[in-house]
Amino acid sequence: MTDRAISADIPTQKRARRLPGSLRFFSTVERLDTTVALQVATRIVAVPYMAAVTLATALAWKQSQVSWVGVLAVAGGGVLIAAAEVCRVFLLRRGRAVSPWLILAVFVALHLLVGINAWNSGGIDGGLWLSLTVLSSVGGALLPMRLSVTNGASGMMVFLGTSAAHGQIDRMRAPTLVLGAAIIALGSPTASVFRDVIVREAGRRLRQQVAQLELFNLMLTAVIQSMTEGLVACDGAGRVELWNRRLESLTGIPELEAVGKPVWEVLKLADRHGMQDEREHPCVLALDGPVFRGSVLGGSPGEISLISATGESIPVTVTAAPLMRDGQAAGVVAVVVDVSRERELAQTRDALVSMVSHELRTPLTMIVGFSELLLAGEFDKEQVEECASEILYAANRLSGLVDDLLSTAALERGSLQLNKRLVALSSLVDQSVASFGPEERKRVETRLEESYLLVDPDRITQVLANLIGNALKYSDKSTKVEVRSRRQNGYVSIDVVDQGYGIDEATLSNLFTMFTRSSDERVRKIPGTGLGLHIAKRLTEMHGGDIEVTTRKGGGSTFTVVLPLEGEAALQTENEAPG
Ligand code: ADP
Repeated sequence: MTDRAISADIPTQKRARRLPGSLRFFSTVERLDTTVALQVATRIVAVPYMAAVTLATALAWKQSQVSWVGVLAVAGGGVLIAAAEVCRVFLLRRGRAVSPWLILAVFVALHLLVGINAWNSGGIDGGLWLSLTVLSSVGGALLPMRLSVTNGASGMMVFLGTSAAHGQIDRMRAPTLVLGAAIIALGSPTASVFRDVIVREAGRRLRQQVAQLELFNLMLTAVIQSMTEGLVACDGAGRVELWNRRLESLTGIPELEAVGKPVWEVLKLADRHGMQDEREHPCVLALDGPVFRGSVLGGSPGEISLISATGESIPVTVTAAPLMRDGQAAGVVAVVVDVSRERELAQTRDALVSMVSHELRTPLTMIVGFSELLLAGEFDKEQVEECASEILYAANRLSGLVDDLLSTAALERGSLQLNKRLVALSSLVDQSVASFGPEERKRVETRLEESYLLVDPDRITQVLANLIGNALKYSDKSTKVEVRSRRQNGYVSIDVVDQGYGIDEATLSNLFTMFTRSSDERVRKIPGTGLGLHIAKRLTEMHGGDIEVTTRKGGGSTFTVVLPLEGEAALQTENEAPG
């Protein structure tokens, strides 16, 4: 059993080195199986052996049936076997097995020693029998079944031989002798069977424990692999042992590729000053630095970035903790959290604060300024009207800002409800145009193919008013803005066309993102929040539509709102119905 187990164990260890980290645990359990089985077998043998030898020696000594030489032979044999056992286990642990033939030879020699002692001290007695029984049983417990029979037979032959040589085999003593010889002969195979049963039972229990550990390992693997944070575990040299799925997706490096590599080569990190030096890597610091040992390293959102295999930079926080064994860092575990969303939120918050403070201050300053002007002096009717209209304009800007903020908040929360009803497209466009002043209204021309839409009229008016307002704002006052529509494949496309400043490439890529405003000086001078298009896009999408744009810097823009014509069929059926 042991030979096979040991030889099977060695390739397992070799294989373990190539296994990915999470599987290595299981191979450790396999090794445990072999070692524990050996320990069990050793104890079964050593404990009863020493007890039996001591008892046999004491009995024989008490009855003065053994000489000093005999006592020394038995006790010396005991020490010899114990030493042999210790050597065997010691060698086994180093992957070498003691030949069972050697063990058999030692036992046969001991049988002979005991026999010679009995011969010298005058024939068979209880001490001889007990010694041979003990040697037979102990040898059987150490030997495989096929050799234990030889061991038992050799003890029996010594017993019968010694008795015969002293002429002690007679009619009277024959039954006792045969019984005694049978016990000696059977002691060895019985002990072998007994040992096998106990080892098998121990193996069964062990397999149960292994099954439990396996389940635990599976659970642990499932938890590690389904974590939303990246997890890496390294050995004492900083080589990756475990690399979870989240880290695979963050870095673009698969587990099999990462395992065994130095952590700083696969978990590449950069800070504000550039790529981190290997010695500054959190895992290395947690492993090596006396300052960081036992502590946790982290960073506020966005301080550290992970550089993926494709060169993408992802803001992360890294928390690394050493795995301490006997006061030494035997490895390190690091958790990597993607903080892109937090960074985005922080940037949005900053942009919101700066936009709100700017957009609030300008109209408020206007309201305060014109109000003070009105209070301060005597004005004719025309001047008062001028001041009042400026105040109204500023108040409208404020009210627009508040509306935009409320719409954005409702969209972000997902709490914005649509009150859909069937409306004519022309009425939606008319309402949108009506929200502008007389001068602006004059610039808008409409050319619509009449359609009926099942939409929330307030929201679609808001979308169109934003697009028409932008077309009017971001173009010269002398130019026209055209609103036209066409029907196509169950959808209506509403184009808002201007001959204005157009949009540059950089702005275009983020046009529908919150707070995006063109860097064009002419645009910057015009009040705006960068929220309108974001809201318009989200509202259109909520209606099952979309907004597209074609533009060229300096060459005007066309914003196209596409909406499904889903309500018209119902309207037609209603009209065709008799009566
Ligand atoms: P706001 O107009 O309040 O700044 P929007 O979200 O409506 O916010 O528009 C975002 C940005 O897109 C504007 O600041 C402007 O730079 C650009 N933009 C939108 N519509 C047009 C247009 N018709 N012509 C040129 N630029 C436009």
